[in-house]
Parts: sequence; structure tokens; C-alpha cells
Amino acid sequence: MLDQQKLHELTSKLINFKSISPNQDGCIDYLQQVLTDSGFTISRVDRNNTSNLIAKIGNTGPLFAYAGHIDVVPTGDISQWNFDPFTLSEQDNKLFGRGIADMKGSVAAFIIAVTKFIKQDFFNPDNGQIAILITSDEEASATDGTPVIVEYLKSQNIIIDYCLIGEPSSANLLGDSIKVGRRGSLTGFIEVQGKQGHIAYPELCINPIHTFAPALNELILTKWDNGNNIFPPTSLQIANINAGLGVTNVIANTLTSSFNFRYNNLYNANDLKQKVVAILNKHDIKYTIKWVNSAKPFYTDPGKLLKVVTKSIKQQLGLTPQQKTDGGTSDGRFLIEICNEIIEFGLSNKYIHQINEHINTKDLYDLAKTYYLILNKIFND
Ligand SMILES: [Zn+2]
Repeated sequence: MLDQQKLHELTSKLINFKSISPNQDGCIDYLQQVLTDSGFTISRVDRNNTSNLIAKIGNTGPLFAYAGHIDVVPTGDISQWNFDPFTLSEQDNKLFGRGIADMKGSVAAFIIAVTKFIKQDFFNPDNGQIAILITSDEEASATDGTPVIVEYLKSQNIIIDYCLIGEPSSANLLGDSIKVGRRGSLTGFIEVQGKQGHIAYPELCINPIHTFAPALNELILTKWDNGNNIFPPTSLQIANINAGLGVTNVIANTLTSSFNFRYNNLYNANDLKQKVVAILNKHDIKYTIKWVNSAKPFYTDPGKLLKVVTKSIKQQLGLTPQQKTDGGTSDGRFLIEICNEIIEFGLSNKYIHQINEHINTKDLYDLAKTYYLILNKIFND
């Protein structure tokens, strides 16, 4: 049996750190101590203000890695919280605290599970390896977070066979869904040139709002694809449009707009860029466009990890998880470079980033027990 008391204490301790990205506030240092005491060898690859920890145990054999982050998003208006966001609080069988769901609860659950797994003689260090990868910047830019961990592992020629990311993948019930991939994210920043002047003399001006509107309409109405059995359809959303001087008698000189694609594995970023440019060029507009591709879509072929995670959830939680690829981006976009198989499985995402972020108390312990089963099946089945 896993120690529920210890799990509660570790979770509580992690919530206490005000680790708003990318500041670890001592949280990574604390985990370093905990994992050293459990027999892990630690490497730190901190960069700028971001702290990154790689803990490893085992000498040879298949490598299983757990990846997670201890940074949290800001609390928002503290006066609206029912409890101090940095104190683990319990009420009505729910646990409250900033980061309890996303994702300090998962980090604590995995550490309790893996510590027990290693202590019991189920783990043979000559026939298996376990790594724990923790960053303090997943929620902000992530630039100095998991990409730095990936860079380090690459330099050591380390390939991960099975990578479990503890992000909150569940929807309503713990284990009702897991992520088997994620969509890519591509943002376009467009500037449309007009010619400024008096609104009463439009023949002397070029109104960028008018020239852009038909192109905008075509972008919005375009159906990019129908999705496939793994991914939902690619979606384009307009995020910003700015034009005009705020007065009613001037035609603006320029219009700026940004839009974001969440795209599936039917595309690469260049295909989408070309399609957008072809649409823009059909219309009579003068423009420049810049692009930021912040994530490629990722998907790994189903293998042993998917089987093990599905079986463990079924056994412990009595559910067959749905395999999903929706939601925002995750660090899977970086880990894909060094992992043969990636699955995301963690707590419910229903209240993440919200004021009064919380989970069901029972889910924390159930998650730890399911993580334990996953470890046992990966190495002993
Ligand atoms: Zn997260």
C-alpha cells in the first residue's frame, strides 16, 4: 500500500512554494533533495531564470521517464480565493491550491509511487531505468525549460522508450481521457498597408479595413480539413484586429491582425503558410506577414505504454480512457524528439488556471496508485 499520509505531506509541501513561472522558489531544490534521498542521481540544467532537474536511476534496459512541471500560473485576485492559494486546503472532499491539478498533485503522486516501487524489490536496475524530468517553466515561454532538458539528454545520447507526461489529461473523472498527441500551433502576424486621409475624401485614401475585410472573410470561412481518426479538424481563429485612430473622421494608415492555427498532423506549418498567402494574394491588398510556429503536432504510434496505461486505468479506476489530441500545447512537442512513445495522463483539467483550483481528494491517491501500477506493468509484464 502507498502511504497516503506521505502523499498528502509532499503535495502540501509543493503547494507551499510560490513557484510562478519560471521562478522555482526553492521547489526544484526541494525535489532534488527528496529524489536524492530515494536513490536517484541528479543532474541540474538550469538556464537563465529557469530551473530544470533530471533524476535518474538504473543502469541499463528500457528507459521509462515521467515528465512534469512545478511552475504555476499567477493566482489572479487573491481576495476571490476561498483559501490561501499556496496552502493545501481541504473542504468537502476536495483539495484546493494553485497548481494542485496543473500539476504539483501529479508530481507528488508519481514521486510517492516511484519511491515505493524502487524500495520494493520489483525494480532491477540492470534491467530498467527510470528518469524524472521536472522544469520550472512550462506555463510561460518554456524556452529555457524542457527544450534544455531535451538538449541535455540528446548530448548524452539518451533515448526514452516510454514517456509519461503528468499533465491534467482527465476531464470529468480521473482516467476518463488521456492524450496521445497534441495539435501544432502556428501564429501569423499580418500588417495591411493603406493610405491615411480624411474620411470625407475616400478617393484620396486607401482604407485597409475595407481592403482586408474580404480576405479576412475568406480566411474565416475556409475549411482547412476534416481531421482524421486521431486529430480534430485544423482550426484558424482570429486573435486580434487593430486599425483606426479612435476618431470618426480619419481613414487609418495601417491595419494589424494576428491569427492562430491549431493544426493536425495532415499539415506541416509551411503548407498552411502557403495556403494563407494564396488566399491573401487573391485579394487586392498590400501586406506583410510574419509567422511564429510555436509547436509542431505530435503523435506517437501506439505501443506498450499505451497498452500499459490503458490497462492500469481500467484495473485501478474502472474506466477505459478516451484517447484525445485536443487542448493546448504541452511539453510533448519538445520531448517527441527523444521519445519513442509519449502519453499524457494526469488529474482533471476542469479547474486548472482558475481561481480556487481544486481536485477531488480521492483522485490524488488514486492517481498515485495508478502510476504505481503503470511502473509495475512496464517493468514486470
Ligand atoms: Zn501544466
